[in-house]
Amino acid sequence: MEKTPYDRPARPWDLFNKNLGRVETVIAEDRMAICRACPKFIDSTTQCKECGCIMKLKTKLPNASCPLGHWDTVRVSYSEETK
Ligand code: SF4
Repeated sequence: MEKTPYDRPARPWDLFNKNLGRVETVIAEDRMAICRACPKFIDSTTQCKECGCIMKLKTKLPNASCPLGHWDTVRVSYSEETK
């Protein structure tokens, strides 16, 4: 089976990859809600203390995941992703 960018964890440069697409707004919002309730979330910068990422951006990447597995309830399937 052909390897796609969705088969690997998100990297910062994925934010510039227009071919990767973005998740639906509702998925990104669900992820953001989980982050905002998480003790690892830094409100002022919207960064995660665990991965250092800016969550306002990372939550939109289809291949992104929470390093502690907190997003598992809003897992994105390939077909739900939008370009
Ligand atoms: S990515 Fe995970 S660990 Fe980081 S703030 Fe969000 S829920 Fe918390």
